[in-house]
Amino acid sequence: MRIVWNTVYAMALGLLIYGCEEPVREDPFVGIGAARWDVGKSANFLLSDDRFTKLELEIAYMEGFRPTDVLLDEMVDFLEEFTFKPEGIVLNLKEIPAEGEEFYSAEAIAALEDQYRQTYNEGNTVSIFLLVVDGNFKQDETEFFTIGAAYRNTSMVLFGKRIMENSGGFRRPPRGILETTVALHELGHLLGLVNIGTEMVIPHEDEEQAFHCEEETCLMYWTVETNNVFLFRPQTIPTLDDNCRNDLRVNGGR
Ligand SMILES: [Zn+2]
Ligand SMILES: [Zn+2]
Repeated sequence: MRIVWNTVYAMALGLLIYGCEEPVREDPFVGIGAARWDVGKSANFLLSDDRFTKLELEIAYMEGFRPTDVLLDEMVDFLEEFTFKPEGIVLNLKEIPAEGEEFYSAEAIAALEDQYRQTYNEGNTVSIFLLVVDGNFKQDETEFFTIGAAYRNTSMVLFGKRIMENSGGFRRPPRGILETTVALHELGHLLGLVNIGTEMVIPHEDEEQAFHCEEETCLMYWTVETNNVFLFRPQTIPTLDDNCRNDLRVNGGR
């Protein structure tokens, strides 16, 4: 009898403790977990002011690879032009130690983000992380070298060494123009271009190069993230064509 009573008591106590606990209702759109999705999955959050009214761009660059002012200005301008963020766009730039590696794998890049990224979606603020490393991408093919990549829903990387090698001097774009072009292209992927999180109003995805625009002069043409980017127009940063602009607008952007 006593045992039964104890059991009932324990059950009641258990219920009491359970009942007092706050229901765990985590917001799936903030914190680290919300920065682990695939590229394009946050396009609407980045473009519209429905959920986030402010945008923070965190840039972590390895020593010796500080982005040019052209890149910093143009990235903010691009975001202001295509997104609705009434509370503004904030830039957060910091230097991190150089790793001295010649090549970085996708895993190594993700690990560096884990180590150095400080801002995640929080409150009304949506966050984008740009990492600039001192080496190249491990999976570079011999013909086309990757200069940058978007690798998670709010994460992108630039390969500083590749930028240095392919800019400045004879028949090469100035460094600011090259790195800015690639950075804006990767930003375009985070905004869901092309057909990767932002639906196409009119079909314009390149048949051979998935997630890229078929228009050769568009910022989202596939060669833009490779060293072939400036074979035809070395001195200007390509812009988005009408198809890409319309897609962004329909997904909540400007
Ligand atoms: Zn691309
Ligand atoms: Zn386009």
